[in-house]
Amino acid sequence: MEKFTGKGVYGAVAIGKISIFKKPDAPVTRVRIDDTKAEKERVAAAKAAAARQLSEIHEKALKEVGEAHAQIFEIHLMMLDDEDYNESIENIIDTQSVNAEYAVAVTSDNFAQMFSSMDDAYMQARAADVRDISNRIIANLTGNITGSEKSGAKTIICASDLAPSETVSLDKDSVLAFVTAHGSANSHTAILARNMNIPAVIGVGDSFLSSISEGAEAIVDGYSGEIIIEPDEKTKAQYLEKQRRDEEQKRLLQELKGKDNVTVDGKRINVYANISGIDNIGAVLLNDAGGIGLFRSEFLYLENKDYPTEEQQFFAYKRVLESMAGKKVIIRTLDIGADKQVDYFGLKKEENPALGLRAIRLCLTRPEIFRTQLRALFRASVYGNLGIMFPMITSVGEVERIREICEEVKSELKAEGIEYSDKTEIGIMIETPAAAIISDRLAPLVDFFSVGTNDLTQYTLACDRQNPDAEEFVDTHHEAVLRLIEMSAENAHKNGAWIGICGELAADTSLTETFLRMGIDELSVSPTFVLKVRDAVRKTDLSK
Ligand code: PEP
Ligand code: MG
Repeated sequence: MEKFTGKGVYGAVAIGKISIFKKPDAPVTRVRIDDTKAEKERVAAAKAAAARQLSEIHEKALKEVGEAHAQIFEIHLMMLDDEDYNESIENIIDTQSVNAEYAVAVTSDNFAQMFSSMDDAYMQARAADVRDISNRIIANLTGNITGSEKSGAKTIICASDLAPSETVSLDKDSVLAFVTAHGSANSHTAILARNMNIPAVIGVGDSFLSSISEGAEAIVDGYSGEIIIEPDEKTKAQYLEKQRRDEEQKRLLQELKGKDNVTVDGKRINVYANISGIDNIGAVLLNDAGGIGLFRSEFLYLENKDYPTEEQQFFAYKRVLESMAGKKVIIRTLDIGADKQVDYFGLKKEENPALGLRAIRLCLTRPEIFRTQLRALFRASVYGNLGIMFPMITSVGEVERIREICEEVKSELKAEGIEYSDKTEIGIMIETPAAAIISDRLAPLVDFFSVGTNDLTQYTLACDRQNPDAEEFVDTHHEAVLRLIEMSAENAHKNGAWIGICGELAADTSLTETFLRMGIDELSVSPTFVLKVRDAVRKTDLSK
């Protein structure tokens, strides 16, 4: 089993056999010729043939990918008639007395290089187009126009690169996925793959091509950009399950997109998504989540080699808020410690890290780190609908101190003439039994609660969530945990706060009705579970 990673350009999973796409061999050599006129006539004939072929490809593209994307072949047709391009070919033939193939190849290289050196990404991607039409002319000159169509059983097409015309010429019904060693996400090949709904990964690198063989089994994950060659049975089973879930999601998406997220009896429930970074936003939008219920901001720290600056954080938070265009975004402050360790924090080794200097405890003992994050959050708050949430709360004193620090940070910003939104909601996680038990005292201090069932279960049942041997003692539906959630919901509502669940249990649809009967207002789950939960909410009838 071997793994490669590139850029996923269309999210879906494909499992099948590899078919290596070979370009028609047309080595171009420089040959001296005497009759330059005849050579130019050969170019004209090859161009006329290329134009006919491109018109056919354009027709096929119109049917398969629609007008907007078929347009590229109209542009190719226009490029064939480009004055500068044709003048260059003729000049090379005339001045050097060389064969047509060579003149086209040199012109192609020159033009492609010119496009590649432009600053604009769109123009850079045009280098592939000029190579595409030039290769077609050369293929017609050499009589090597075997076509790039592959047909027969569905396969994963692997190539060094695919030109747009090669991509669209492939028989769509026989292609499971595309993988290319090169190529850019902005290229038309990538755009066409997306519009043909074919899982595709590009830019996997040269070593990929030397590691694959015709007919080998592979998995292509267009979401993560991963390719797995000759997967073992366990990996294959995992991806088959991912593929099944993916197909189910897509079916649900079609049915649920745009529909109201209400129970049968009309209670509106927010189904949000959990993310760990800006890279997950695509999945949030694709799955039509109503907002982000948990952004685990510690991943910004985990990905960095040093403390992320206020500026770095500000841009990350702003980007998430802007991408969600006014939908709720709840960002949880740093939850470092326990299983999430970062070297540069220089934390002492603890006997029981899950019970140690973790999350809010660390923030309150290292206020400079906390203030930097809060400044970034409040500065970003003007770009959307922000909620700030604090993890691992166990006491009223902690929440009071947090509120004081928030006020100090806001005053500081105000004094510096920096804007922040007064509508920013402040919430806490209910993930310790202590927080649930004193939720009547905590609720008046906040706008919302979000139940972290992962930790709430670990601390209530005294079962280390990191220890696989303790797993058999974890009853995720344990009455003690459910009672703590119910108690927190009651106390939240009595005090005008709302309550959500953002731990893994929120995605357990066998509990959706139980949670909604407790009065839970929001469920926040991994993006891939959003539709499953929305479906469960829409099937729940609380009037019975
Ligand atoms: C939780 O504890 O349920 C939670 C959502 O937080 P995390 O899993 O990041 O600890
Ligand atoms: Mg937690």
